[in-house]
Amino acid sequence: MYQNWLGVVVFWLLLHIGWVAYVGTDTVIGQVVNSLFTIGGVSVSLYLIWQARRRQMRRPFTSRLFLLLLFANTMLGLGECGQLVYFLQERTRTEPFDWIDLIFSLQIVIYIVAFGYFLQNRRREVNLRVFLFDEFIILVVAGSLSWHYLVTPYFEANAMLTFETILWLRYPLGDLLLLGGMIVLFFGLMKRGNGSSLLLILIAFHFQLLADLLYVVLERFDYPFPSSWLDPLWLATVMIVGLAAYRFDAEESFVNIDITRRWIDVLRLITPYLFLLILFVTMARQTISWNGLTIGLMIAIPLLISRQIRIVVDNQRLRENLEAKVEERTEALASAMEEMRQMAYHDALTGLPNRYLFARLFQDALYRAEANDRQVGLFFIDIDHFKQVNDTYGHHVGDQLIIDVTIRLQKKLPPHTVISRQGGDEFVVLLFDVEQESEVVQCGEHLVSLFRKPFHHGIIPLPVTASIGGTIYPAHAASRADLIEFADLAMYEAKRRGKNQFYLYESMVTNI
Ligand code: GH3
Ligand code: MG
Repeated sequence: MYQNWLGVVVFWLLLHIGWVAYVGTDTVIGQVVNSLFTIGGVSVSLYLIWQARRRQMRRPFTSRLFLLLLFANTMLGLGECGQLVYFLQERTRTEPFDWIDLIFSLQIVIYIVAFGYFLQNRRREVNLRVFLFDEFIILVVAGSLSWHYLVTPYFEANAMLTFETILWLRYPLGDLLLLGGMIVLFFGLMKRGNGSSLLLILIAFHFQLLADLLYVVLERFDYPFPSSWLDPLWLATVMIVGLAAYRFDAEESFVNIDITRRWIDVLRLITPYLFLLILFVTMARQTISWNGLTIGLMIAIPLLISRQIRIVVDNQRLRENLEAKVEERTEALASAMEEMRQMAYHDALTGLPNRYLFARLFQDALYRAEANDRQVGLFFIDIDHFKQVNDTYGHHVGDQLIIDVTIRLQKKLPPHTVISRQGGDEFVVLLFDVEQESEVVQCGEHLVSLFRKPFHHGIIPLPVTASIGGTIYPAHAASRADLIEFADLAMYEAKRRGKNQFYLYESMVTNI
């Protein structure tokens, strides 16, 4: 849809330019159609903003911003209507500085308000203080240039500061302020998203600046061009602002323009200095007396500027380093927290889930079994003669044996099991998705068989086996505590019967 509207805007503007160039605005029909082009173009832009606003209704900030743009663009339409009425009565275009010109001026004023509003909203991303400082530099440059080239000659002719003079000033000052601000803002925000919307606005204000500057020049120096030549330029601003609003994506999910970050930063950085340099070059050109002092100044100021840029670049680098360090620390903190979590829920020696985590996993398994109408097998494993290993070869060999047992269990057990170390030489194993008791018996026998192949200390075989007790949920008990207790009892029964075997709880109940 955006592409279509872009086509409409370009087509409309080309038609408008064609009309102004080939038919002109000297005749009544020429002027009327010219005005209708502007009024029609403004209507298109208002429609686009209205549509964009409707999409953003639930976002008060964007909605209000679009309302301001809507008002600003309306001013061009209103002014043009006034101009048309004036023309039909007087058969000539309006003069600068009458009430119609004031309406046109309101457009730029409302743009500035909208811009300020946008800035206020984004102040956290833009570093408002630095931004305002940069804007102030731009304003001083634009102000002094305007003062020198526009106001002073006017003073010389009229000798008094009038309302008109102030109106003159709004063209270069307002535009330059907006443009300078937009450039800084654009490069500051672009990397976050809405790059293409901001770029469109930037292009729009370039049109506005060009049109306004040409208008000042045409009117002030009485060039033999009618100012209606500029109408398509003013219209372009309004229509492109409409497109920008239409393109605006409140989610800011995409950055459409691929410019590297450093490039953006450098441009943002040098913008205020660029304005300062313009002032400096203008001043240098005006300087009549070339003496040691002026030459010194000519050399000193560019040096000062480059030094300033150096400082800012250094600061930026420092900040980036700092950010990298903070990121590094944050990562370290996150991994420390992960480690602590691991320590809280896992056995330090084997890394297996500890008692607490096991309780949770066990409960989940019971819920799932109930929901799926399945059973759960629970095995209580105690290593036989483990103390002997400790006593004969030392505690560390005992520890290594526990680790080896863990590894073997993890390797040999099917995936739908959970292993946990309860402490000492005791492990528990959960078997999910059990349909028949025989599966539990099979798994218990399998577990016992896993210990029959000897573990080793170096090349010395360690003669350990395992006694294993088993229970089944829900056949033997409904609660976790009971299941564990019964499995423990079954394990003792296995020990009592000579160790190195599996014993299922139920068979014990029937045997007693
Ligand atoms: P049984 O055949 O009846 O199971 O006797 P056992 O020798 O295996 O001894 P029992 O299971 O009663 O006790 C286990 C021993 O394991 C008690 C304790 O000294 C030792 N132990 C407990 N925790 C650790 C540990 O983390 N590392 C080592 N190396 N030994 C431990
Ligand atoms: Mg033991």
